[in-house]
Amino acid sequence: MKCIFCGNPNSKVVDSRYLKDTSIRRRRECLNCGKRFTTYESVENNPMIVTNSDNIREPFKLEKLTESIRYATYCEDISKSVEEIVAEIENRLFALQRQEIATSDIVTIALDVLMEVNSMSCLVYYTQHTDCDNFDAVRRFLNRG
Ligand SMILES: [Zn+2]
Repeated sequence: MKCIFCGNPNSKVVDSRYLKDTSIRRRRECLNCGKRFTTYESVENNPMIVTNSDNIREPFKLEKLTESIRYATYCEDISKSVEEIVAEIENRLFALQRQEIATSDIVTIALDVLMEVNSMSCLVYYTQHTDCDNFDAVRRFLNRG
């Protein structure tokens, strides 16, 4: 995704949101000149494939990630928008430069990003995405680091 101002190919995402089911609007910031520009990317062209624990492969769904972050941050006092949090998660996913990624990798990255934003949101996301029907798992998670 070349910068429209200087042609530099490296940019970071500052805000991502899906439009209907067919495209993603991303605000990007050029890592060379610092200017911001907007891209409209079709979901079909998104190369990232997600594999879950049952080995089912499906295209990365921004909508799914956005809704889970929205749910996790709903009741909390958050300084960032849902779109900003999602963009940060995407940046870390893209930085892995892999075409195929496991659901568990996305969850791990999302937890790291949420931990920096709000620990209660992090916990909500954790309980939503991991099998933690026993309290020990939650307590171990809260005590980590
Ligand atoms: Zn630029």
